[in-house]
Amino acid sequence: TARLIDGKAFAATLRDRVATAAAAFARDAGRKPGLAVVLVGEDPASSVYVRSKGKATIAAGMESFEHRLSADVGEAELIALVDRLNADDSVDGILVQLPLPRHIDERAVITRIDPDKDVDGFHPVNAGRLATGLEGLVPCTPLGCLMLLQDIHPQLAGLEAVVIGRSNIVGKPMAALLLQQSCTVTTVHSRTRDVMGHVRRADIVVAAVGIPGFVQPEWIKPGATVIDVGINRTDAGLVGDVDPGAAEVAGAITPVPGGVGPMTIAVLMRNTVVAAARRAGVAVDPAL
Ligand code: NAD
Repeated sequence: TARLIDGKAFAATLRDRVATAAAAFARDAGRKPGLAVVLVGEDPASSVYVRSKGKATIAAGMESFEHRLSADVGEAELIALVDRLNADDSVDGILVQLPLPRHIDERAVITRIDPDKDVDGFHPVNAGRLATGLEGLVPCTPLGCLMLLQDIHPQLAGLEAVVIGRSNIVGKPMAALLLQQSCTVTTVHSRTRDVMGHVRRADIVVAAVGIPGFVQPEWIKPGATVIDVGINRTDAGLVGDVDPGAAEVAGAITPVPGGVGPMTIAVLMRNTVVAAARRAGVAVDPAL
């Protein structure tokens, strides 16, 4: 059976490295790195995420700025807040928690964030930098997946990678990161004719579909590494996008929960200290 990839333990070591880097930044720059999180409305899941992000920020020795706006805030007012955060020198990272209420154009808000403070990596400028190999900020979940993969495969070049899903948040940046590592990358999605046929060839499978247990054990090439990004709330609790039976075939696999999930916030912390260092022109541990 597969080796279980312990994302929780990996995330803990990453958070330690971030805390060390944040302390070094504070010494050099005379202030702590700062992360501003904006929450609009009271969506329960979003509130939980925002609270965990705030706690993790403080635990890493960084400054947390929380902005809670009511669900009926106007788009102009939200954009004015983003403008203030862009101009605020104590703010290195800006994260607007998604989804936003329907009357607000998410794109207009995301593209307003200074790309150098865009720690979620959702700004089109950062997507373009990733696609063209420029230094930028990369979305947290796929970057966390890449870190787990590199831990298992120090040499990713030449491996066949199949990414299931093409969202701007996970699938597309994941495919770009794997291509950057010289994998042979296939992205499959809802209109793909033979998903199984593609997955069977893969040395690396990243599933970001949002369908509980979608990837079947018999699709997995024996010994392949499987990264399950899915977080699906079902009557049976939290389940991934990969059928648990895949652990009998894979060489290594992330559990849900405890795999990719814990990496996302740890990478957000990493992105914040990296953004702070770049903005201040101070060195940051390249291994971060
Ligand atoms: P999304 O709904 O935006 O994208 C899903 C993708 O799956 C789409 O691109 C679609 O083309 C593809 N898809 C749908 N049905 C398919 C099918 N039958 N065959 C092949 N592809 C199909 O979702 P997302 O935001 O990319 O998230 C995916 C999953 O990852 C969700 O379960 C989400 O909760 C989870 N997620 C987890 C984290 C984390 O921190 N671990 C972060 C983001 C998302």
